[in-house]
Amino acid sequence: MNLLEHEAKRLLADYDIPIPRGTVLDATSPLPQPPVVLKSQVPVGGRGKAGGVRIVTKTEAMAPTIAELLSLPIGPYTPSCLLAEEVLAIKRELYLALMIDIASGEIICSAHRSGGVDIERHDKADFFHTPLQATHFDQVADSLADYLELPAKSFVLADYVRRLHRCFIESDALLIEINPLILTTDDRLVAGDAKLRLDSAARFRHPDWDFAAMGTDTNFVSLDPSGHIGTVANGAGLAMETVDSLRFAGLSVANFLDIGGGASKESVLKAFSKITAFPDITAIVINIFAGITRCDEVARAIIAATEETDHLPKLYIRLAGTGHEAAVTLLDAASITTLPSLETCIGQLKKDLSS
Ligand code: GDP
Ligand code: MN
Repeated sequence: MNLLEHEAKRLLADYDIPIPRGTVLDATSPLPQPPVVLKSQVPVGGRGKAGGVRIVTKTEAMAPTIAELLSLPIGPYTPSCLLAEEVLAIKRELYLALMIDIASGEIICSAHRSGGVDIERHDKADFFHTPLQATHFDQVADSLADYLELPAKSFVLADYVRRLHRCFIESDALLIEINPLILTTDDRLVAGDAKLRLDSAARFRHPDWDFAAMGTDTNFVSLDPSGHIGTVANGAGLAMETVDSLRFAGLSVANFLDIGGGASKESVLKAFSKITAFPDITAIVINIFAGITRCDEVARAIIAATEETDHLPKLYIRLAGTGHEAAVTLLDAASITTLPSLETCIGQLKKDLSS
């Protein structure tokens, strides 16, 4: 899951990475004092180019700029909050990231002399790129300082790398990207932006996690734009089995969807809206095996999402595991049928399609 910038920065600050002073605000918050940078809080990059980062210097521009940013979509997202930060005086914009090399399993320290909104334009070969091992922080920092042409910052960079590495490991991160890492005119290194991707599968280790992406963190794959059957399952394995079984039965499947643990009304609503966007959908198969997730919570989510979705195709629902009986009672009361297994769902589906 991708954290919002303010969430990522709060986590970095816990590891003593310098971040700009700032506050999170929405339409109801008191107005901040200019000058501030206002930044749209959406879980994607490219906000600068899309108009989602604005410097406000005049008091009279504050309210209209906040209103404008709160209604400006960035890609598929419209922000529900903004980050208002002190305006930094920039000498240079750098790029610094830790990421996992999938092939080797190593954590890589990556950097570029020239960070900022055009980072994708740089030649891959020009990046600093070194595997990071706990025993080599000082050497990595030395060569990083050389590469960045900041020889006097070797010690500071060693601290950065050490802290980021600890944050990466302890947070079960997949990516920490600071772009820009700002060198201020008074020679401080401050994280101007932060992108953090955490491993959702490690959620059980982090009862303290409380991020906007949770609950909407779904793995949706479009398989066939002209497919007739939409699928919703929890867990990647069960989701694959659902797709495979439907295909074995000769049905055309539009999507793969793993809604993860703890399905909320929002996640089911989002799933329904993505599936009903396929033009030829005639049915949705919902296959849930509840362990930590509770079937009755899923049932409540399905009922609420059903009430709020127009023109929903017929649902074929199989729920098993924790809270199953309570779920069936709830769904029965809402006149929503459940079936005992994926096989019976498929059987019923084929019967309905041929009649
Ligand atoms: P992104 O486009 O979504 O990656 O958003 P960023 O947070 O990286 O901001 C984009 C750009 O806005 C940065 O590369 C900077 O050039 C500029 N910017 C962000 N914060 C500040 C600031 O405090 N001062 C100044 N002068 N520019 C800033
Ligand atoms: Mn950025």
